[in-house]
Amino acid sequence: MSSSPDSSPRESLDFIREIAHQDVQSGKHPFVITRFPPEPNGYLHIGHAKAICLNFGIGQEIPGSRTHLRFDDTNPVKEDIEYVHSIKEDVKWLGFSWGDNPFHASDYFDQIHAWAIELIRKGLAYVCDHTAEEVRARRGTLTEPGTGSDSRARPVEENLNLFARMGSGEFADGSRTLRAKIDMASPNINLRDPVLYRIKKVPHDRTGDKWCIYPTYDFAHGYSDAIEGITHSICTLEFEAHRPLYDWLINNVSAPCHPRQIEFARLNLTYTVMSKRKLLELVETGLVDGWDDPRMPTISGLRRRGFSPEGIRSFCKKIGVTKYNSMTDVGVLEHAVREDLNKSCPRYMGVLRPLKVVLTNWPAGQTEDIESLNNPENPDTVSRVIKFSGELYIEQDDFMENPPPKYFRLSPGSEVRLRYAYNIKCDEVVKDATGNVVEVRCTYDPASRHSGPKKGSAVIHWISAPHAASVEVRLYDRLFNIEDLNAIPEGKDYRDFLNPSSLEILTDAKVEPHIKGLVPGERFQFERMGYFCIDTKHSRPGAPVVNRAVTLKDAWAKAQAKG
Ligand code: ATP
Ligand code: MG
Repeated sequence: MSSSPDSSPRESLDFIREIAHQDVQSGKHPFVITRFPPEPNGYLHIGHAKAICLNFGIGQEIPGSRTHLRFDDTNPVKEDIEYVHSIKEDVKWLGFSWGDNPFHASDYFDQIHAWAIELIRKGLAYVCDHTAEEVRARRGTLTEPGTGSDSRARPVEENLNLFARMGSGEFADGSRTLRAKIDMASPNINLRDPVLYRIKKVPHDRTGDKWCIYPTYDFAHGYSDAIEGITHSICTLEFEAHRPLYDWLINNVSAPCHPRQIEFARLNLTYTVMSKRKLLELVETGLVDGWDDPRMPTISGLRRRGFSPEGIRSFCKKIGVTKYNSMTDVGVLEHAVREDLNKSCPRYMGVLRPLKVVLTNWPAGQTEDIESLNNPENPDTVSRVIKFSGELYIEQDDFMENPPPKYFRLSPGSEVRLRYAYNIKCDEVVKDATGNVVEVRCTYDPASRHSGPKKGSAVIHWISAPHAASVEVRLYDRLFNIEDLNAIPEGKDYRDFLNPSSLEILTDAKVEPHIKGLVPGERFQFERMGYFCIDTKHSRPGAPVVNRAVTLKDAWAKAQAKG
């Protein structure tokens, strides 16, 4: 198991860690075994990251403990090997490892099938002839009991016979199910004779054609935990109501152990959806550029955008683990990522929306080398040389022809400092036929090289025009334009709230030339403009596409400081 760079001393344990540590201290368990159990039916998202950090975190923090990665692959209809690969990649990238091999619920199909037969023999399960709709219609409601299946009183021998024939492929998909015989009047609907096995004549990635009946998630999940000797089965709150069923299932067969289930609140994030069904819909309908679209809340999307695993882990630590469902501001995630990138990223200069500046008193053809630290926040970083000349680009936003009062950047007659270089003064504005400013003519102050900015003037970034590389930069905004996607007005669809300007493509940003030599996935800061990353999907050799991960402005930290 890799050691977590974030494993911290025990000063502030959440309630789940508290239980796990206690169980070891009291001698109930010599160590703990947790698991992260995704269904391979989609890519992982930031909510999964919370569950991953929690489960793998506990596995790392308690000596001798471990965490399994288990694929709960009980439904071959919705599953795909692509998802299995992406899940492994994402867990690894987040900084966790699961030992030699991941586990699979499908490896337990024989055992689970044997326990199904054990339940039938005990008169605790029966083959039901109703269709899925009929089962649903008879389930009852929160206030009314359900109606028992017409097959409920079927004798054990007949159930064994029918279950065997279900398994040998004699019956059509959906024509029969195996159900637990529990209590059709239970106030807990999960206990009203839940379905345990369905007929699905679909091959499985791992078991091939061996089975045409598959256990339901609820039937397989608790058993898989028990088979693996999981001590603490940590899941999200919606499974609280399933716990009595898992307990019943385990108590009624010869299971090797009884994992303790503990529920915690799932992560909800503002301005995004977290349901795999909806994320899949966005991908399949082409509303986003795949599962790893940098606007998606998926781990692969956040990675492509330029978020770091350290930043995501730090976010998961900050939000903690509780029993109460709530909505987390996406600003908290951006803040955590920004904090990490500030420490780890080299600095470059890049002008996203260029405006030409000509220095009229610069010696013709002269170039100056300016040395600058790559990351002033990090003492280990090296310095680099930036070229300066008489033709430059600055950000369009850093010039205003008719500025409001207290505008400290460049305007006719005013001065501004070019970072690491000189103070310049704007003398003249050149416009095109339509009146747009296309060039600003300035004079530089040769004596200002090692002075600071003049009082009342700002420091801005720049790029020497003859030395600049031109690249495509992609700026991202929130994917949706409402905060709480769980509270959509009736009659509306979540897709009605897609933010039409969530992606802005700038095709001619001017940047330091070594940006072209960076490897896809590399992260860096463009001074004053934010943290960026070389896109892993659309970059070509010599033609990088640059994604903005986050801006430098930290609205979240500001709001916190204000209180
Ligand atoms: P599905 O709707 O397909 O069941 P799921 O999000 O529950 O989707 P799983 O693959 O079952 O997906 O999730 C694996 C694990 O991640 C589960 O233990 C689940 O509790 C946890 N998990 C899923 N979503 C979140 C979330 N938003 N916050 C915290 N944990 C989550
Ligand atoms: Mg699930």
